[in-house]
Amino acid sequence: MRLGKLIVFTGPSGVGKGTLLRSLLRRHPELYFSISVTTRAPRPGEVDGKHYYFVTRPQFEQMVATGELLEWAEFAGNYYGTPRRPVEQQIQQGCWVVLEIEIEGARQIRQTFPDALRIFILPPSLQELENRLRDRATDSEQAILRRLKRAEAELEAADEFDFQVVNDNLEKALARLEAALFSPAAI
Ligand code: 5GP
Repeated sequence: MRLGKLIVFTGPSGVGKGTLLRSLLRRHPELYFSISVTTRAPRPGEVDGKHYYFVTRPQFEQMVATGELLEWAEFAGNYYGTPRRPVEQQIQQGCWVVLEIEIEGARQIRQTFPDALRIFILPPSLQELENRLRDRATDSEQAILRRLKRAEAELEAADEFDFQVVNDNLEKALARLEAALFSPAAI
């Protein structure tokens, strides 16, 4: 059987990756979305096992120590990581697996899965990113400022990726994403 493929989505917090990915997954239910583990507290409406697996720091550190994570990173004061087994199983079965992770994790994946397709989602501008982070109104001012600072550093790394997609308009960004995934030679 043919092996599947790993697809990595990265982009600064507030860029709208979540909305874009949800639309992509609705249109392509054959894609398998990897659910991450995090020590961040759930936001209102977030469900354990659906949006993330929410764990304590000691639990997370235990997973790191036992090699259960494919990659992991600290982001804005919390840990985030990708459970290894489901990803490896899905790829063995020929599925396309989608990771939505920050830049440090994407760099780790480049080492362990050099064939992964890596896509960077860009905001139309830094100002627009700040507006979106503030409109979301789920994070404290301190968290927003940390995320903005991190976003500036992440944007500088956009060139490391195979494709860059500007999320200015959902439909257009989705069309560009689909082209990158399903007919990369065309772009
Ligand atoms: P949020 O707290 O907004 O859900 O996520 C913060 C950042 O962590 C986002 O950039 C998101 O892509 C990233 N992230 C989510 N899951 C993972 C993961 O498993 N590994 C890594 N490295 N980053 C993740």
